[in-house]
Amino acid sequence: MEITVLGTASIGGVPEWDCTCPNCAAARQDPRLRRTRSSITATLDGDMHVLFDAGHDLKTQLESNGIVPRVETAGETFRESRIDSVFLTHGHADHTVGVAEFCTGKSFELPLHGPPDLIDFLFGSEETPNYFGELGRLARNYVIPIKLIQEKTVTRLGELEITGIEIPHTQVLENGRKYPSSTYAYEIRHWDRRLVYAPDLGRLDPWFIDRLEGADVLLMDATFWWDNELERISGIPITSYKLGHVPQEEAVEILKDRGIGRVIFTHFNHTNPSILENGDQRKIVDKAGMETAFDGMKIKV
Ligand SMILES: [Zn+2]
Ligand SMILES: [Zn+2]
Ligand SMILES: [Zn+2]
Repeated sequence: MEITVLGTASIGGVPEWDCTCPNCAAARQDPRLRRTRSSITATLDGDMHVLFDAGHDLKTQLESNGIVPRVETAGETFRESRIDSVFLTHGHADHTVGVAEFCTGKSFELPLHGPPDLIDFLFGSEETPNYFGELGRLARNYVIPIKLIQEKTVTRLGELEITGIEIPHTQVLENGRKYPSSTYAYEIRHWDRRLVYAPDLGRLDPWFIDRLEGADVLLMDATFWWDNELERISGIPITSYKLGHVPQEEAVEILKDRGIGRVIFTHFNHTNPSILENGDQRKIVDKAGMETAFDGMKIKV
């Protein structure tokens, strides 16, 4: 299979619209350093794609990666979908607001999978209307929401096997409910080849590390380098762990020599110093034999 990395940033993208920090300033100067919100597609033949997460930048991401309808095959309606199905990891905006894009797909019924509580959160019901319920009303005729039970495997494109793995990331309320939803990593398998996509990951627990052993690729959360990064750089006294992200500095150490083929980092906040090419933190990542994803990256698995 081939993975196209559509976007590699956390919720604000790089640059953030109102920021002049060194990373944002550099990205304004050099378009190669720009990062849109994290999302990937998987394909077997380049024709139809399975989409993982749909953020603010979805439409431009599809356009810039050539995942667009073709005049030759669109036919009389002028419409063609190159998206076979959608899998959402969790309810944060940078992973879900792009679902609104599908409200124009008048001739497609896209299966849209996610944790059961996420489907309830996004699509609501007529008894409990809310903002995302309204989004659901717009999209309802064009996507088919499917509650995917964790550890259940769905086959798409005939041969791709996709499994949702519940991982820590979102807030756990006093009553045990996850807010705004629980979070999945997705394991994407094609025969004996296996990639795990975990753009938001709160901890690298031993059971999850065991689960990763033997994976060909892990594409994972690198929102922050340091646990106290927001305090250090933006003066906001909240830690990376508190926000549900394992700090990249620790992930690099923990994942060394774990039998994972390639460790590739994504979902960068603008403050993460490892996005600076040739910086000290990037050197640590490179030296560990790990990789830094960029928008438009192709990964053969
Ligand atoms: Zn996120
Ligand atoms: Zn910035
Ligand atoms: Zn998140």
